[in-house]
Amino acid sequence: MAVARGFRRFRLADVGSFVDAIQTERELCAALAHRETLPGATAKFEPALPAGFEALRPLLAEQRIRDLYTHQSRALRLIEAGSNLVLATPTASGKTLVYNFAALRESLADPESRSLYLFPLKALEWDQRQRLERDIAQLGQAASEIRVAIYDGDTPDSQRRKLRESPPQILITTPDMLHAGILPHHASWRAFFEGLRIVVIDELHTYRGIFGSHVAQLLRRLDRVAHFHGARSQFVAASATIANPGELATQLTGRAFEVVEESGAPQTARQLLLFRPTGSPYSLAARLFRLSVGLGLRTIAFTKARVITELIHQWVVEAEPALKHRISSYRAGFLPSERREIERQLFAGDLRGVVSTSALELGIDVGGLDVCLLVGYPGSQVATWQRAGRVGRTREAAIALIAQPDALDQYLVSHPRELTHRGFEHAVTDPNNADVAAAHLPCAATEVPLRADEAWLDSPDIRRIIDDLEDGGQLLRSETGSEWFSARTRPQRDVSLRQIGASYAISVEHPKTGKVEIIGTIGSANVFSECHEGAIYLHHGRQFLVTRLDRDERVVSVRALKSPHYTRAISEKQTEILTRERSRPGGGFRIVKGRVKVTKTITGFERRRIRGQDLLGTEPLDLPPTSFETVGIWLEFPDEIPQALETAGRHVMGGIHASEHAALSLFPLFALCDRHDVAGISYTRHPQIGHAAIFFYDGQPGGVGLAASMFDRIEILLDATCDLISDCPCDDGCPACVHSPKCGSGNRPIDKAAAVMTLRLLLAHDPLPERRETRGPLAKFPTLEGPVVQPDSPIPHRVIFFDLETQRSAQEVGGWHNAHLMRMALAVTYDTQTEQFETFHENDVHRLIERLGEADLVVGFNVISFDYAVLRGYTDAELLALPTFDMLAAIHQRLGYRLALGHLAEETLGVSKAGDGLQSLAWWKEGRVDEIERYCKQDVTLLVDLLRHASEHGHLCFRTKRGDRVRLPAPWQIPELIERAHARQGKGVNDTVRPRSRSGSQRKRSGDEAGQAVAPRTND
Ligand SMILES: [Zn+2]
Ligand SMILES: [Zn+2]
Repeated sequence: MAVARGFRRFRLADVGSFVDAIQTERELCAALAHRETLPGATAKFEPALPAGFEALRPLLAEQRIRDLYTHQSRALRLIEAGSNLVLATPTASGKTLVYNFAALRESLADPESRSLYLFPLKALEWDQRQRLERDIAQLGQAASEIRVAIYDGDTPDSQRRKLRESPPQILITTPDMLHAGILPHHASWRAFFEGLRIVVIDELHTYRGIFGSHVAQLLRRLDRVAHFHGARSQFVAASATIANPGELATQLTGRAFEVVEESGAPQTARQLLLFRPTGSPYSLAARLFRLSVGLGLRTIAFTKARVITELIHQWVVEAEPALKHRISSYRAGFLPSERREIERQLFAGDLRGVVSTSALELGIDVGGLDVCLLVGYPGSQVATWQRAGRVGRTREAAIALIAQPDALDQYLVSHPRELTHRGFEHAVTDPNNADVAAAHLPCAATEVPLRADEAWLDSPDIRRIIDDLEDGGQLLRSETGSEWFSARTRPQRDVSLRQIGASYAISVEHPKTGKVEIIGTIGSANVFSECHEGAIYLHHGRQFLVTRLDRDERVVSVRALKSPHYTRAISEKQTEILTRERSRPGGGFRIVKGRVKVTKTITGFERRRIRGQDLLGTEPLDLPPTSFETVGIWLEFPDEIPQALETAGRHVMGGIHASEHAALSLFPLFALCDRHDVAGISYTRHPQIGHAAIFFYDGQPGGVGLAASMFDRIEILLDATCDLISDCPCDDGCPACVHSPKCGSGNRPIDKAAAVMTLRLLLAHDPLPERRETRGPLAKFPTLEGPVVQPDSPIPHRVIFFDLETQRSAQEVGGWHNAHLMRMALAVTYDTQTEQFETFHENDVHRLIERLGEADLVVGFNVISFDYAVLRGYTDAELLALPTFDMLAAIHQRLGYRLALGHLAEETLGVSKAGDGLQSLAWWKEGRVDEIERYCKQDVTLLVDLLRHASEHGHLCFRTKRGDRVRLPAPWQIPELIERAHARQGKGVNDTVRPRSRSGSQRKRSGDEAGQAVAPRTND
């Protein structure tokens, strides 16, 4: 009893005293890098319960709820109206109430109706069932018929049959079980599917990346099966706060959604404390934990690994044995009953502190807490605020982030606004990932034969996959041709929703009994790097030693161990460019998006100490290379950057490699990424590009669009990267800036100063220096696509006159040879077919290029050396292959010198030209785009009039240096110009005209580059 009294006395402490105590302790105070108060919000209620839910009113009384929050009642009204709904509000804002009300209302109204609840993890199901059962009991007689059941891997066989024959009104399961255990047997679940009205998807934000691609296919399969049984269901989804809940819900289900994201739930003010420890972040975390619990504050610490959870728990108990029964660790390895007990005690206040892995992050209600310690940045804003949402429900609370020595943590601590103001990330997934679709189509076909007229098959991509599956014998086409069947009866067995491709079973042998248990699977994409023999493999935060990797049987044998070490694979990687889909110039670089093939060989591994990361030794491995195709973006460097690094005496690869590491570490600021989601490779000279390059690509086969989502925003990422490295106080690189824990080449070579130089040049913060002439022809940006010209244009003599203006001067990009970096401000064309002018802004550039490709003749003034050179920043199309008449080039050829367009116009047509190129650049800087357009259009008009004059009179006029106005012979008849341009296209420039090829990589680059290819230093 004494303990209980003490507890009450302690509870009088508040967060203010915690903050005060921190400031009186030297070590804590020195590590405190930032402190601010996050304002609270008062609750917004809506008194009226929507009419359709009146029968559920007793539940409100039971939960001591007088009025619903505004977001709850808005959500219920939308559900009542039959909309698909996604509710994306903070942790503990009452999302569960909303979907439970939706399901219970259906069950009360019609006992034949059914609801399906999907949770991403088994652990979450129990909590939900309990809560539903409480609710049902509370509703009394009216709800006595309503049954709730969990159907998952733990459900005994005897019970499974019963559930199928007499399905509960509310069935709780996981996507994995729906995929492998329910949909394949839907015929025996007839009663359930016939009545299916509501599909609840909780933790929607977890269905992203490759898991999201799988779930998107799974939910389409669910829809087909429900449809087969005559049902059409309504979706009710709940998500953590993300930037795009509606978009994600639509991608996953293929349906339109209403979004409710403005929370009416109250929020107390919270103290945000950011710590940058000089020593171990874990001992600092343990110190804060003791301090907070000692003050009587209910405290939760989130760590990123089970080992750390145990370590902190152990240190706290050692330092303060009295706390032994008042604190606990909490992690995935615990039995469900143990976890329930911890949750209960925490909820009741019997426990004062918990050290947890991310296991507590998801929906389990542990009541309101006072202090949340984040030991290391949880990896996303979404996860950060979800964890932080555990505190501050009823009184002021504190959130402390203890930075680990890695780049992202350090960046956030020195840029706290990024944490408080950047906003939530996008959850990115690709519902059309071809590899995933190819895995699910045979599954769908066993459930209900695929029919040619199904809407979801109505896309060229899906049809192509079906054709491939038919060729490969996985799908069999019906004799009538209108249906496809699966060749195998249970293709579901070979498809895991958590990965792509073949998987390896992870098998652990019990040391005493010798009993073998499969604890999980790992995808073939990662098995060599994580489960090679000798690796220490983490599974749900537990350590295992890999004793054997059996490639034939696809089994990884492991045994549990406790080790103060970890291992890290050393690899060599190559990327091959398969297609280039889009490109554009950035500051001092060009960025390209396309498909790549990544080939990786694990050559050995390192053993390192967990604390301090000291290298203990390396061992070689002999494993075959693996490869996969994915989607990526890459930065192509102009040669001036490596040259500048060399001139400055810096390490070229060290600079590029370090830039890649740091940029990769900041990727999670922009999109919800997990480990393996995005990877990178650096080259001083990529054999297909002929220049230095950095690749970022999706780490999963087929890709999900994560790397590609940075195509338009790469400058923001590079800018943050440059800040991160420049601000790091280390001398020549450390884990907080340019060292990557995942580096395949052991962080060698790395040159921190060179990385800053590289990034500043890329971002054009520093001008590109003069190019040093190198031997041989000037390297050109590569051309992998064939000509854009369509020679069989049906309408003869379509002439397009064309001129463009740029955003930057030649000087600003290091000289005319970098015209491809000058960026188009706008372009104007005049089309003789439509007799119209057309203006193209930078975002229309690809349309412009297409338009030029439609012409029988493109007419410009200096178009070959200038306009096309600028456009080369955006395209790989070989513009020189276009049938082109360059008036300036023709004049130069005849006279041996050049004449200005304005001069020709004045002397030939008697009109004077307003403005010039410099004027146009100035207008661009002032944002006067209209002026540029007017000016550019005028040039095009002059061009049209000059050519017309030439074709009518056979000459133009100009004035010599001596002052004589003379004729310039101009025998320019359009049909002849076209003929000549096409003839030239056929021979003279044929070394640059290349046939269109699906895979650019199949073509050898010219011989002179082959010897210069430098073996890539690869990574991550
Ligand atoms: Zn550093
Ligand atoms: Zn690396």
